[in-house]
Amino acid sequence: MIAIKPHHFVDIVTALGAGQTTYEAHPYGHALHTVANAILANRDVMLRIEIGADDICLPCRHNVNGACDDTLNNAANPKIPRSKGEYNLMLDQRWSERLGITQGDEMTARDLCALISTRMGDISDIYREIAPEAVVKRHAELTGGIRAFLAQRAA
Ligand code: SF4
Repeated sequence: MIAIKPHHFVDIVTALGAGQTTYEAHPYGHALHTVANAILANRDVMLRIEIGADDICLPCRHNVNGACDDTLNNAANPKIPRSKGEYNLMLDQRWSERLGITQGDEMTARDLCALISTRMGDISDIYREIAPEAVVKRHAELTGGIRAFLAQRAA
């Protein structure tokens, strides 16, 4: 069972659509590499929705008692909060509402991906703080990632 924030899972699928199929350790010490590699290796791994610190955050140097203390450089776009934790919560709440999921829900990665495919709709409302052209690129990569993710059949 992997605890994961909705937007972290979306990011992994989006990156897959951009061609990223493997991950290396990050200087922050977070577990994106192990979690993403585990999900990409087994589309049917069980996930538990976590809106707070998830299994990616647990070993991260910016995880301080369950809260993210990292900051974003929002000088060029003040609509994005400077607090990464605050922005993450905004994204996770929007994705949760869009997908009809909530803290503690359990499902396979394949089922969560299928849910995103069915319910994602217009993601410009979820990523309303970023530039329209960046949203168009993100939408194309997410769509491609969903296709690639769901194309791999169960072992
Ligand atoms: S959200 Fe914050 S605590 Fe979690 S992995 Fe990213 S930087 Fe680390």
